[in-house]
Amino acid sequence: MTCDFCGGTDLEKINRLPVVRCRCGIAYNTQDFRPDPRLASKSYFDMLEGARAQSEVFFEGWVDKIAEFLPPRQGQVLDVGFGYGIFLEEMAAKEYAPWGVEISEASCQSLQQRLPAARTFVGSLTEPGICERLKGQRFELISFWDCLQYMPDAAQQLRVADSLLVDSGLLVVQVPNRGVNNLKYAQAVSKLYPDLGRFFLHLPAAKILFDPQALEKWLLSLGGGYRILVQSPSVNKLRFSIRLRSVSAAVEDLLLMIWTFIAKRKGEAVPSIFLLRKQ
Ligand SMILES: [Zn+2]
Repeated sequence: MTCDFCGGTDLEKINRLPVVRCRCGIAYNTQDFRPDPRLASKSYFDMLEGARAQSEVFFEGWVDKIAEFLPPRQGQVLDVGFGYGIFLEEMAAKEYAPWGVEISEASCQSLQQRLPAARTFVGSLTEPGICERLKGQRFELISFWDCLQYMPDAAQQLRVADSLLVDSGLLVVQVPNRGVNNLKYAQAVSKLYPDLGRFFLHLPAAKILFDPQALEKWLLSLGGGYRILVQSPSVNKLRFSIRLRSVSAAVEDLLLMIWTFIAKRKGEAVPSIFLLRKQ
């Protein structure tokens, strides 16, 4: 196996977990990776819609912060894996032209209805058809909110984004913190109950487990280089994973909250958010 980020081939197996970690710090799920089928289904969209209020609270803090670094009211914004589309709605309200890529067709249709000015594409940023349609476009900002960990080609997604950004453009990357300490907690939990360790790491749905420091180092050297403008957790409103509303979902949410609490007490940033400027 080769690390998609650094090209390293010396990946270390993590005991008790279906995970290997590269020397650069990025870890990978070694189970058969299949994108969660719910992502493309209507139930996924219903989840997003159900969590709308929560997402609005989350983005409230970030939209103003990001806009401080953008030229006022001009340029195009591309949100990859835009989910319900709240970030694009907020950016459109600030008079930026909204573009989005999302695996869920229902999400694209809904956003088109709510925000007719939006240009949306069903699928992945790295698909040839979508690359072709974005050719010649340039963006002031490209964002990946809480989605890269599910993508089998995350490094390539970021390289494509780099190629579409204007000089001095902004890149936003949010991933769950799955650094060395988090893997240790998951290993410890797995001793008692193997499935729980995987659950905490969101396996098998997540393909990549990002160590924030490793990701930061990689992002700074992406393309011609980037500089960090803001890094989490300075905006301290957490967005918990969105779940189907059921008893098992409530239990999962509770476990995630406990996990988050432990990680925060240990000084871990949950999640990790980077706002970067292209050099
Ligand atoms: Zn690596």
